[in-house]
Amino acid sequence: MKKLALHWQILLGMALGIVFGLILSNTSWGKSFIVDWIKPIGVIFIKLLKLIAIPLIIASLIKGISDLKDISKFSSIGKKTILLYVCSTVIAVTIGLVLVNIIQPGNSISQETVDQLSSAYNTKANARVESAFDQKETGPIQFIEDMVPDNIFAAASNNRNMLQVIFFTVLFGISLLLVKEEKSKPIKDFFDSLNEVIMKMIDIIMLIAPYAVFALLASLIVETGNSDIFVALAQYGLTVVLGLFTMVVLYIVVIKIYTGRSPSSFLRGISPAQLLAFSTSSSAATLPVTMERVEEHLGVDKEVASFVCPVGATINMDGTSLYQAVAAVFICQALDYGLTIPDQLTIVMTATLASIGSAAVPGAGMVMLVIVLDSLGVSKETLMVGLALIFAIDRPLDMLRTVINVTGDATVSMLVGKSEGKLGVPEVKNWDDNYKN
Ligand code: ASP
Repeated sequence: MKKLALHWQILLGMALGIVFGLILSNTSWGKSFIVDWIKPIGVIFIKLLKLIAIPLIIASLIKGISDLKDISKFSSIGKKTILLYVCSTVIAVTIGLVLVNIIQPGNSISQETVDQLSSAYNTKANARVESAFDQKETGPIQFIEDMVPDNIFAAASNNRNMLQVIFFTVLFGISLLLVKEEKSKPIKDFFDSLNEVIMKMIDIIMLIAPYAVFALLASLIVETGNSDIFVALAQYGLTVVLGLFTMVVLYIVVIKIYTGRSPSSFLRGISPAQLLAFSTSSSAATLPVTMERVEEHLGVDKEVASFVCPVGATINMDGTSLYQAVAAVFICQALDYGLTIPDQLTIVMTATLASIGSAAVPGAGMVMLVIVLDSLGVSKETLMVGLALIFAIDRPLDMLRTVINVTGDATVSMLVGKSEGKLGVPEVKNWDDNYKN
């Protein structure tokens, strides 16, 4: 019998997980069964992905840079990557702002719903606001300072320090290019082979992906509360979803025009990473799979993918920035806080910066939304009510925006790859042997 392609296996796992979760959430033993016996499979899977993230970045980026032969090539890749990331984020925020101003979801929400939501989610919202204010107490170029590690072992021991690890690795890779061939060869060969081994580890870990997404979605269902609230926030949720959908259309149109690659071949290539992004709500946890798909299934050379993907996972969040723009305006509309045109321009700037600063983990976009609202002069009390307002449907929106974050990284990888002459026909690997370009 022909083996089902990986993205179908994952989709099936997700669908069965939701059904299983819905059935068992009707009984209290069912809920604890899922939490105690099923959820750990999902947690283990996320841990395994995070486990290989740092070694993967190191091995693949060093191999990528050392294959370049020429430093000017790296600087050209770097400039294009950053430029495309900033442009795509600004476009995403603008799309979000246009939609939220046309649809005006906040104006249809009643005072009663505002009161109900703010009392239900008060405590959780406060925690996010406090954590955002803790992060805010820093200077304007603090993030550049933070990018430079003073101890590589300390940096590599925490997945949140991805940019520090990238910084060290880029410096290492460039230095490797500058030493004589006979001296650099042993190190290059070592990282080359390390890279192969880590790619194989991803293949092995991915074997449990369909079961893991089953576990993640089943546990999400039993841990999610009252669904009536979804209806009250439907217009807001749909505005975000419409914006995210517009971004996907934009990506595939740009890819088709610039690289000639068909939408179905792009989506088929990247879909396992998108499904994992949806199930884990974390672009950092999805990173190993994103890199694997971009290189082996979309045909972007390692020289490009090994830099563009990890940097993107840390700083490029188109979905998050779009969501922050919609959520900020929605909250202002619902709480009758009038916004002027300069206010909306402030949102473009702060949402772009806030999405760069958001960690690639579940819920981070909401914490940084506080910075966007704060820049509009919203008081701390209003901020708390505002966040409580959108808290109930933040998780599903987080799942969707993470998909866009990952798709945006893959899109930029393809565009940079094409412009550098480093986009080829994808190599077909063991998972989807039936995959054809
Ligand atoms: N969960 C998102 C990510 O990991 C960040 C966010 O928007 O909360 O990409």
